[in-house]
Amino acid sequence: MIWDELETGLARLAVENLTRRRRTLDAPCGPEAVIDGQRFTAFCSNDYLGLANHPTLIAVVQQAAARWGVGSGASHVVSGHLRPHAELEERLAHFVGRERALYFTTGYMANLAIVPALVERHDAIFADRLNHASLIDAALLARAEHIRYPHIDLDWLADRLARSRARRKLILTDAVFSMDGDLAPLPELLELAERFDAWLVIDDAHGFGVLGPGGRGSLAHFALPASPRLILMGTLGKAAGVSGAFVAGDHRVIEWLMQRGRPYIFTTASSPVIAAALSASLKLIVAGDDRRAHLQDLIVRLRAGLRGLPWRLLPSPTAIQPLVIGDNQAAMALAERLLMNHLWVPAIRPPTVPTGTARLRISLSAAHTTDQVDALLAALREGINLADQSLLPQGERMPSMQEDEH
Ligand SMILES: *Cc1c(COP(=O)(O)O)cnc(C)c1O
Repeated sequence: MIWDELETGLARLAVENLTRRRRTLDAPCGPEAVIDGQRFTAFCSNDYLGLANHPTLIAVVQQAAARWGVGSGASHVVSGHLRPHAELEERLAHFVGRERALYFTTGYMANLAIVPALVERHDAIFADRLNHASLIDAALLARAEHIRYPHIDLDWLADRLARSRARRKLILTDAVFSMDGDLAPLPELLELAERFDAWLVIDDAHGFGVLGPGGRGSLAHFALPASPRLILMGTLGKAAGVSGAFVAGDHRVIEWLMQRGRPYIFTTASSPVIAAALSASLKLIVAGDDRRAHLQDLIVRLRAGLRGLPWRLLPSPTAIQPLVIGDNQAAMALAERLLMNHLWVPAIRPPTVPTGTARLRISLSAAHTTDQVDALLAALREGINLADQSLLPQGERMPSMQEDEH
C-alpha cells in the first residue's frame, strides 16, 4: 500500500529524533513569546530590527486595506500588479542602488526563479556548501551541473571555475550564512565572477536591513560596485519585518526574470497591503540607525559574555550567534535547561549542521533588552556542567521545543 512507506518514513523520523514540531504562539512576533500560557524570552526569530509588530506598520496595513482591499486577484503579469507593488519595486531599487528590482512573494520563490532563468542543462553552478536550502533547490530545478565548494574556500572555487568547460557559469552564495552567521567574501567572489565571466547571485536574507550604511545590506557593507553580473536577492520577512523578497540588478536581468522566471509568472501577486507595509518598513530601515546600534551593542555584549563559557563561539559579526556545543544530546539538554528558565533558544542538530557541531542558534533582535541578553548569559553560565537530561530535576522537564530548520 502506498501508505506503508509514509508510515515507515514518519516512524524513522521519530526514531532518529528528527520529527519537526511546531509551536503555536499566542502573542505577536517579538522577544516575549507566549506558548500554552507560559512566557518565554525568545532568541529564535529573524526579526532583527524588531519591526514585525511595529505600530507604524500596523497602521499602514489598516489604511492600505481600506484603500486597496486585501487580495490582488491575479499574477503580476495579468492584473495583480497594483500601485503599491510598483512603488515598492521603485523604492527597493533606489534603496539598494540598482537599476531595477522585482518583488517576489517569498525568498524561496525568488531563488527558484533566478537560478533556472539564468542557467540550464550544460551550464554549471558553483555553490557554497553552507548555502540555504532554497538555493540548493534552485540549483536542482535549473538542472545545471551543481558544484558545491567547501565553505568559503576561494582557492578550491577558483580551481574549479578554471577547469570548467560549461558554457555559462553561475556562482551562488549566501551573503550571511544562516547557521554560522559569518559573511561570504563578496569582493573576492565578484573578482572571480569577473575573471571567469560568471554570474554572481547573492542571497542577502540575513544582511538586508541590518548590515551596511542605512541597512542597505551586505553589498553596501563591502561597498561592492553595481556590476551587471551581480544579482542581489534580499528577503523582506526578516529584518524588514513583513514577508516577501526582491531581486535587484541590471535592468536586462530583471526584465528577463519577469519574462522567464516561472515562480514569478505563475503565482498570484501577494496582497497590496503587504507591499504597502514594506514601503513603510523601508523608511523605518533607513531611519533605523538607533536600532542597528542597539543590535550591535547586544551582539558585542553577548559575545563578551559567551567568551567566558566553555563552548565554541563562531566568528560571527551578525545577529546570528551560534554557540557550538558539539554533542547532540548535550545541545538538547542545554536548550531544555534554558527553557526551564523561560528562555527559548533553538538547538540545531545534524543534518542541518555538520555532525559534531550541534549548536544553540542564538538570534538577536533590536527588540531585545540588555537585561534579556544578561538573563540568557546567566542561565548559560548555570548550565555549564549540564552533561545530559538526567541532571534536570524529575518532573521539571519541559516538552521539547527544539526545531531543526532555519
Ligand atoms: C529565509 C531565507 C530564504 C527564504 O526566504 P523566505 O522569504 O523566508 O522564503 C532564502 N535564503 C536564505 C539565506 C534565508 O535565510
